[in-house]
Amino acid sequence: MIKLDRLPEPAILSSEGGKWLTALQSAIAKYGSYKLIPEQERESLVAHYRHRQIQAILSCSSHGKCAFCECHPAEGGYLQVEHFQPKSIYPDMTFEWSNLLPACGPCNISKSDHDTTKEPILNPYDTDPTGYFDFEGISVIAKTGANYTISKRTIEVFSLEGIRLWKPRAEILISLKGFAQAIEYALKDLEEADTQTKKTRRLRRLKEALMTIESLALPNAKFSAFCKSFLMKCDVYIEAKKVVSAM
Ligand SMILES: [Zn+2]
Repeated sequence: MIKLDRLPEPAILSSEGGKWLTALQSAIAKYGSYKLIPEQERESLVAHYRHRQIQAILSCSSHGKCAFCECHPAEGGYLQVEHFQPKSIYPDMTFEWSNLLPACGPCNISKSDHDTTKEPILNPYDTDPTGYFDFEGISVIAKTGANYTISKRTIEVFSLEGIRLWKPRAEILISLKGFAQAIEYALKDLEEADTQTKKTRRLRRLKEALMTIESLALPNAKFSAFCKSFLMKCDVYIEAKKVVSAM
C-alpha cells in the first residue's frame, strides 16, 4: 500500500450525487431501512456510484492499481469502486466522493461490510502507509508500535497476507534479486576499470541497472511498496547508490 492523492470530485458526482442520494433516502424511508429495500430496486438506486466517470478518476488516482493490495486489475480482477464506510451501514455515504476508493475484486470482497468507523483500518488517501507495514520475504507484517493494531487489522480485513499475494510477490522477488545481481556485477566491473573510458562506460551501465530496479518501486508499478521495502534493505543497491553519488 502506498499514499494516494484524491483527485477532484468527478463532474457527474457533483451534479447528480445529491439527486441520487435523495432517491435512495426516500426508498429507505419507504421500506424502513437500507437492507429492507427490495434487492433489484436497491441495486438500481445505488448503481450510479459505479459510473464510468467515477471509476476512471479513481483509477487514475491509484495509477490503475488496487488502493489496498497494489495489484493491477489483471491480477485481482477488474478495478471496482469500494465504499470505505460500507453503504449497507452508512447509506448516506453511498455517493460521498471521499468514501469511494478503487479496489480489486478480492480486496473488495474480503473487506465486505467491515465497519471502518467502529474498527478503523488504514485509508491510503488519508494516511501515508509507510510507517504501518513491513515485508519479510513475501509476507507482509504489521510494524510494531503505535500503529500496530490498525496495521494488523488492515492486513486481516483485506487478506493482504496469503497465497493470493504471496505468488505475485514471489515472482517480483525473483526479478528484484536478478536486477540486484546485475547491479553487483556492474559495481565490480566499475571497480576494476583501469582507464577513464572504461570507467565512464561502466558507470553508465551501473546507473542503467539502478534505474531498472528503481522502476519496480515507482508509484505506478504494481506492488511498489513491496519493491521499495526490498530496495531499502538491499546492501548492494545501497552501496551502488553511494558509489554513483560520490562520482
Ligand atoms: Zn486489492
